[in-house]
Amino acid sequence: MARRHAEIAGAGFAGLAMATALCQRGWTARVHEANAELRAFGAGIFIWENGLRVLRALGAYDAVADGAFAAPAYETRTNGRVLSFQPINGAGQYRLLTMTRQHLYAAMLAAARRAGAEIVTASEAVGATPEGELLLADGRRLRADLVVGADGVRSKVRDSLGIPQQRRKYEDGLIRVLTDRATLKGGDWDHVIDFWHTAGRTLRILYTPCGADQLYMAMMAPVADAEASAVPVRPGPWIECFPQLEPVLTRIGQVARYDVYETTKLAQWSVGRVAIVGDSAHAMPPTLAQGAGCAVTNALGLAVALEEAETAEALRLWEARERPLTDHTQRRAAEIAESRILASGMSWDDEGLRAARHVPTGTGQYSDLAGTA
Ligand SMILES: Cc1cc2nc3c(=O)[nH]c(=O)nc-3n(C[C@H](O)[C@H](O)[C@H](O)COP(=O)(O)OP(=O)(O)OC[C@H]3O[C@@H](n4cnc5c(N)ncnc54)[C@H](O)[C@@H]3O)c2cc1C
Repeated sequence: MARRHAEIAGAGFAGLAMATALCQRGWTARVHEANAELRAFGAGIFIWENGLRVLRALGAYDAVADGAFAAPAYETRTNGRVLSFQPINGAGQYRLLTMTRQHLYAAMLAAARRAGAEIVTASEAVGATPEGELLLADGRRLRADLVVGADGVRSKVRDSLGIPQQRRKYEDGLIRVLTDRATLKGGDWDHVIDFWHTAGRTLRILYTPCGADQLYMAMMAPVADAEASAVPVRPGPWIECFPQLEPVLTRIGQVARYDVYETTKLAQWSVGRVAIVGDSAHAMPPTLAQGAGCAVTNALGLAVALEEAETAEALRLWEARERPLTDHTQRRAAEIAESRILASGMSWDDEGLRAARHVPTGTGQYSDLAGTA
């Protein structure tokens, strides 16, 4: 039987996971990336247990774990007081690795290439047809057994299909910064620390070591706070609210983006032979650090479903199986974003941890944690 073929728009985490998982199952897959370069945008990223399991299945886990940071604790400090302290990454505790985005991206890209995926840069998708064609900006129409729109939150593939969608923006957004750790090393400075300032002005810095030398800071400011949400970052208001972080706040270089929290929800995740995967299907506020976790989980879940049934039935089975948890995670992430409840030290409760605890489709064979036992 001829090998089945997929054309995939977007070489982000979803597109790379999709291509890898399909190639591992005997498909051929070509990924089209609009940018001229293959690289991750952004600074750092948290990957919970569920995402680590998927990375294991994709053959990327060892390279990810080698060089990622396993903080011993996750703390919340609001207005200078420690409100919660949760040990992580120890025996019987949650696994939550932090790393630079580029580190994760390089490991996933290498896994996709090892699996045999073809990756084309400067190749922009402009749409797709339900019959299974990917339409490119240069006018080509590429036919495939499966077309995947993994082209992110502003997906052209999704929008070309006219799938009814709800999109929402929130009151807050984040500036993401990668810097060196300066003098902040050892002891509590090796913890992930969720710093909040709520007196007068609301600002947050999620202080996240990404290794011995690198530090990721996710700096949350309301859209309405023009001074704190400005880029390049104006250190003044941040140092005033978080004086203990002055050694690193003064080292921030040019940062070009402030991203407002947003949600995309689709009436359906597929049309004909086209599947929408990752942020293009279900962007969510980053309050649970599960957007990429859900993206790679759903990509692997789709490849598994396509082994179990022919395309139309597989797409139906996939959405029925994977969507409830993604919907839940997206809803909970939005509630947390709206209520800013993390400032009260609630951190990770049962509802928020449902995705982290989930054993993703295609990863049940790993008996312990990310399969490292
Ligand atoms: C501030 C912030 C912090 C976050 N923190 C975390 C976290 O800690 N943990 C976590 O799990 N998730 C986190 N997320 C969510 C995570 O970043 C996303 O869910 C994830 O990047 C989605 O991957 P994706 O591949 O679907 O989309 P993207 O990463 O957006 O990738 C899409 C790719 O498609 C390309 N592309 C776009 N348009 C086209 C086109 N027309 N043709 C071809 N290519 C195209 C883009 O260049 C890009 O390479 C965070 C998000 C934000 C905004």
